[in-house]
Order: sequence, then structure tokens, then C-alpha cells
Amino acid sequence: MTHDFQNSISLLGATGSIGRQTLDVAEQLNLKVCALSADTSIDLLEEQTRKFRPSIVAVYNDTSAREFKIRVRDLDVRVVSGMDGLIEVACVSGAQTVVTAVVGTIGLLPTLSAIKLGRRIALANKETLVCAGALVMRSAREHNAEIIPVDSEHSALFQCLRGENMHTVKRLILTASGGPFRGMDRVHLENVTPEMALKHPNWVMGKKITIDSSTLMNKGLEIIEAVHLFDIPPDQVEVVIHPESIIHSMVEYCDHSIIAQLSHPDMRLPIQYAITYPSRTAGMTRPLDFSALTSLTFQPPDHAAFPCLSLAFKAAHMKGTACAILNGANEAAVDLFLQGKLSFYGIHDCVQSALENIPHVKSPALEDIIEAGTSAMQWVRNICQK
Ligand code: MG
Repeated sequence: MTHDFQNSISLLGATGSIGRQTLDVAEQLNLKVCALSADTSIDLLEEQTRKFRPSIVAVYNDTSAREFKIRVRDLDVRVVSGMDGLIEVACVSGAQTVVTAVVGTIGLLPTLSAIKLGRRIALANKETLVCAGALVMRSAREHNAEIIPVDSEHSALFQCLRGENMHTVKRLILTASGGPFRGMDRVHLENVTPEMALKHPNWVMGKKITIDSSTLMNKGLEIIEAVHLFDIPPDQVEVVIHPESIIHSMVEYCDHSIIAQLSHPDMRLPIQYAITYPSRTAGMTRPLDFSALTSLTFQPPDHAAFPCLSLAFKAAHMKGTACAILNGANEAAVDLFLQGKLSFYGIHDCVQSALENIPHVKSPALEDIIEAGTSAMQWVRNICQK
């Protein structure tokens, strides 16, 4: 059977929410899938491997990789593991675009490796830019690698900025749904449980990002992501609560003209655009029906009820390793919250404590960034053991 593929991708994090939707897009657009990686859900990974026939599959955990290898021994696929395996997937030959949909700082090294080969990065792993934004963007410039955001807000900004001069930009306006606790105050939020936080009104996403949406830390990380991606000071990035999640973000220019991108909340659209850019193609997102769309509403964010947002602004101003500390501490704190070992506001308190106590490096090398993240995680785990 011969295939006339439109384009080719390598996918890091195939079994997560973004990974699965990327494969929906791959099927729809007839993309060649050169390589896959996953850590969990071996059953699903096997299904995906049989369907898309990648030449390399990485399973992060060694034991799972051995099991996986036995399962797919009838296929012509090489199974690799660990960080080296992820890097192999990111660098597989033949892939024009690397979709980085892994969760957490684990995505950093594979992304940097693919950048060095000049590959286009469809970036869904926000931690990469949050922790090492300056370094990643510098490397991308050096190696002529395009970084196209997959995060819905940044995809919107990217689209609103096309063909414009960055010097004429006044503000980037990130929209936020407000998460499941929008409108609630501090007193009512003190005792919310992981189950309550996991019920997001508009988006179906992985656990980590859903908790981040409930604390608004997700929006905080997105501020930092925007600062690096578009090379703009944090003062020029604003957050507005927009519960309907129809406007995915906006750019205000010096003449006070505002350009927005609208669509139904459907991640397959930004995923597809990051792969087909600069072209557009018909996809799976259903059209907006303005006769059914009764209103679009907006509110300022409540910084007192959601203090993680201010913390992220603070880290964005500090630069250096501050954002890696913020991100690492948050990753550990969210994990502890999900385990029931930390309260909702405990997440903020732990991140703040890490930011205040872990030594800050102003112009960090990659090792300093990784070290900062690891120390922050350890700092938070230590607080919770006391
Ligand atoms: Mg987002």
C-alpha cells in the first residue's frame, strides 16, 4: 500500500489528552507519524502503534518498555526507553514537525535536541518555555527552528500577530475561563478537594493542567510562556476572565485596535494549525454559530482568591531561574494536592516558599535551570513531610 502523506510528525506524549487529539488530527490530515513516546497507558500506545506504524516508539519507564517490546514484536518498530529514548523520538529522521505533548519538565531536553536539528516544534509542553524560555528561544533562533505554540491562548496570539510589527503591540490579552472555582472567594476555597478541582467547565484535559486551571497557575505559566514566545515584557501581558472560552486571546495594538481569535474550545484546531502553518486546512472543529452564541462576557481576575497568578507575574519579572523554581515547586505541590497531602491554598504557599528560599541564578545555564527545578520540587516535598 502506498501513502501520499501531506506532512510528517513525531509525537512526544502520545497517550495524554493532547497526544490523543494530535493523532486524531494526524488521521484527518493524513500525516505520516514517524515516532511516538509515552510513559503510561501501554494498551493505548500499542493500539496507536498498530494504527500509525511509527518506526520508533519510546516508553520512558524501562520495565514498561520491555513489556511493550514483547507486545509489538510482530511489528517493524524499534522500542527505546528513558530520556535517551525520548530524545531519539524527538530527533527521528523524516519528521518535519515535533509535537511536544509531554507533561512537565521532562520535555525540555528532547525539545532542545530537536531544535538543534532545525525541526519545527509544535509546542504543547508549556514547562519547556516556562523553565528555560530564554535558552530555548535563543537556541531556536540560532538553529532556525520554528516554535509554533499549541497552547490555545498562544496559538490565538500567534495568529493575531501574523504580519504585524511587534513594536506596535501594546498588550497581549490572555483569556482565562476562570476554571471550576470562578466567582468563589477565599473562605469557600479553603477546603476544596481534588475531585472538585478536577471538574473543568469547558476543557477536558489532563489532571495536572486541570488543577493548574483551578488555581489559575495555568494562566500564570501562560503569562511566562507568552513573555518568552513573543519576547515581550510581563507588564504588557494581561489576563481577562472570559468564562465562555470562545475568544482564545487578543492582541491590542498602539492604535487601540484589538484583534482576537475565536472558535469553539477544541484543541485539535491549534494542534492542526501548528502543523499546517503557514497554511490552513479544513479540520474537525465545528463552526461557530452566532445565532446560538448569546453572549461573550469578561471580568478581571480575582488576585486575592487566586494568588498563584500574582506569584507567576513576580517570577516573570525576576527572570533567571525564578520561573523554573515556580514551575518545579508547582509540579510537586499539585502532585501532593492530588494525593490529599496538601490543601488548595497549600499549593500557593509551597510555591511562594520555594520562590523565597531557593537561591536564584540570574543568567542560568541549562544545568542551573534543571537544578533549580529539582531543588524546588524537593523543597516542597520536604515542607509536606514536616
Ligand atoms: Mg491554555
